[in-house]
Amino acid sequence: MPGIIRFAPSPTGFLHEGHLLSALYVWAAAKKWDLKIHLRIEDHDQGRARKEYIDGIREDLAWLGFKYDSESIQSSHFNFFQNVLDKLTAKGFVYPCTCSRKQLQSENPISETGEVIYQGKCRTQTAPCSEPHSLRIVIPDKVINWHDERLGDFSENPKKQCGDFPIRDRDGFWTYQFAVCIDDLTEGITHIVRGEDIRNSTARQIALSQLISDTCQGDLPIPAYTRPLYLHHPLIVDSSGKKLSKREHAYSLRQDKDAGKTAQEILGQILYKAGFLGNNTPIALDQAIAIVAESL
Ligand SMILES: [Zn+2]
Repeated sequence: MPGIIRFAPSPTGFLHEGHLLSALYVWAAAKKWDLKIHLRIEDHDQGRARKEYIDGIREDLAWLGFKYDSESIQSSHFNFFQNVLDKLTAKGFVYPCTCSRKQLQSENPISETGEVIYQGKCRTQTAPCSEPHSLRIVIPDKVINWHDERLGDFSENPKKQCGDFPIRDRDGFWTYQFAVCIDDLTEGITHIVRGEDIRNSTARQIALSQLISDTCQGDLPIPAYTRPLYLHHPLIVDSSGKKLSKREHAYSLRQDKDAGKTAQEILGQILYKAGFLGNNTPIALDQAIAIVAESL
């Protein structure tokens, strides 16, 4: 059975250069390891996801020439997410947290990366809860040793990195962490290639995936957990070495396209900015993927 890798953009805007670099790494990894490619539209945040962006993802990938083997959209899995939540709740792994954003910031330590390390204030609360609340998962206090194909070995304890974290937010939307773990499990993802900016999520996703698998197996169609291969790729940086800002990322690929640039010009531009090419020169998609694959 060939492995499966996923490209998983959120439809909260049009695709930008950050997405394009990620796509090139995903398609390059698929080439290197002979994997099937799955497109997953991660519209778990229903407050921000928009139909025009969902269509935009498909159109832009097609225009650039990226082909994939299968596709799914997270909103079609929401009932299943609820089943998983019910199971975890019944087993005592979920509790409502009524802390406000302000309380979270002032009452908990903040990590070096600026994250709240939740100390479990609401852990003794039980559902149902009538106040606005998020739902947090009880995460084991355990070091996760994991390997990144590019960055090497990590030993991290999610309990110390972030504490019990939300799986559903105060607006009732599924969180990225919860949705991505269930989908990676049920879609049989064997390879996860994504940007360095979410490397920090890996240990907690391993812990949560293991917990979901152990708790739901037998009752729900969830397989035994097999840890995927991880590779976190470098991000595009500006000339001073800083990651591109949100504002720079707000500039979408279709703005370049609408301004008359060809797909080959956009691909050349991204490879140049990412340091793969010495000059900003047009390049075909196959060649671009081959160049990135060489670096893996
Ligand atoms: Zn709380």
